[in-house]
Amino acid sequence: MPLSLKFVSKVLFRERTITSFRHLLHATTVRMVSNGDTSFKLMNTTLQESDPELFALIQKEKKRQTNGLEMIASENFTSLSVLQCLSTCLHNKYSEGLPGARYYGGNEYIDQIEILAQKRALAAFNLNPEEWGVNVQPYSGSPANLAVYTAVVEPHGRIMGLDLPDGGHLTHGYRTATKRISSTSIFFESMPYKVHPETGIIDYDELERTAKLFKPTLIIAGISCYSRCLDYKRFRDIADQNGAILFSDMAHVSGLVAAGVIPSPFDYSDIVSTTTHKTLRGPRAGMIFFRKGVKGVNAKGEKIYYDYENKINQAVFPGLQGGPHNHAIGAIATAMLQAQQPEFVQYQKQVILNAKRLAEGLTKRGYKIVTGGTDVHLILVDFRGTGVTGGKAEKILDAVSIAGNKNTVPGDKSAFNPSGLRLGTPALTTRGLKEDDIDQVAAFIDEAIKLAKEIQVISGPKLVDYNRVLENDPAIVAKVSQLRERVENFSKDFPLPGYVDY
Ligand SMILES: *Cc1c(COP(=O)(O)O)cnc(C)c1O
Repeated sequence: MPLSLKFVSKVLFRERTITSFRHLLHATTVRMVSNGDTSFKLMNTTLQESDPELFALIQKEKKRQTNGLEMIASENFTSLSVLQCLSTCLHNKYSEGLPGARYYGGNEYIDQIEILAQKRALAAFNLNPEEWGVNVQPYSGSPANLAVYTAVVEPHGRIMGLDLPDGGHLTHGYRTATKRISSTSIFFESMPYKVHPETGIIDYDELERTAKLFKPTLIIAGISCYSRCLDYKRFRDIADQNGAILFSDMAHVSGLVAAGVIPSPFDYSDIVSTTTHKTLRGPRAGMIFFRKGVKGVNAKGEKIYYDYENKINQAVFPGLQGGPHNHAIGAIATAMLQAQQPEFVQYQKQVILNAKRLAEGLTKRGYKIVTGGTDVHLILVDFRGTGVTGGKAEKILDAVSIAGNKNTVPGDKSAFNPSGLRLGTPALTTRGLKEDDIDQVAAFIDEAIKLAKEIQVISGPKLVDYNRVLENDPAIVAKVSQLRERVENFSKDFPLPGYVDY
């Protein structure tokens, strides 16, 4: 056990003594209650019976997901096996630490499950276990990223990520000129890089110039809203010029990477993080991959080694997290098995074909797509000059059961009133939509946006007036509900994976 873990162990020992005593008390209480047999019943009634109020809401949500077209680029529908893992007894177990070095007993099977998740995660991304390790415990993508910075960047050390309005993520150090928004900009000093305002492509030259001045400890290559592949080699060059760590956050595109249908960040990165619930289609969780083994040879000819493994593992626990979510880790294991199947590759190819077809369908109808198209699973529609804003587009689409989200486009002045709309194809593709179906989706979107323009003729430009007309004008309401009905009838033909009844 490493020295620092011994220290934690001491602290936890005290904690555990208290906990054991509490358990004793609790057990006595439970026994008293179960004498009347009420506790057992309480604990073994189905959700439907024990909590009809919540059950009804979940059913409504299921119906919403079934009836609508889910085009939020970060969303997907996970599989039945993943959902099953999430509701198993794995949920009940505490297992602080790592396989073979836990702070609680009873972890022989949990250890095997976590090792299985690790092995399959490495295999899914074609990684050699001698060169790469993985931590599968992060609760989600944001905690994974904070763990990476905590591990390898000193307090107030410097990081550079793509600016949020340009397609980066909050956790890439997001702040405005006057306010530090993400904790990754409170605990670390961040300097954003941007996309070129005309082309919408990352301005690598500018990043190179800024990095030379800012001298970051770590550079982040990762996106939440960007429709082109990243030039990881260029990122590597820029990182090397400054002795910086290259950290790729592939949260959005990890499914495409696992399927080998876009370039992999692993070829050039030191550390790679991901969510597991976006294109990767697993449970809501996160993972961190890190290089290990020999890094190179120094001037004296001695081998030097990567030192990320312990730093990252310890940043996750005990640095930031407590007990791993073992139900999620089990679900990661099974999702990573699925990610190695030929059907998964087929799926990811279709995701891209569908996104390209969507871009074509909308371009054909006169819409402007940022960067002129897409290489990945999402597109960004630029509504500037059309009178419609991203917010108004989102609103009308929502009213006709199509879910997308408003987003800034390169050059937007306000993040609160953005001009773009982000649309993704991962969730629709999981439901089985092919290119021809996407043509129909593009037609629905076009009809909705035309309705938005019609509303504006009545309402004028203000959003409050727009919403009022959308919700109250009888002629508009009739048109909206007619379009919604057609969208919902279309959607119903594409089955949702997962449990049938809820
Ligand atoms: C979604 C996303 C995250 C955060 O994931 P959460 O699970 O929502 O915390 C981090 N980085 C990128 C690039 C993302 O797109």
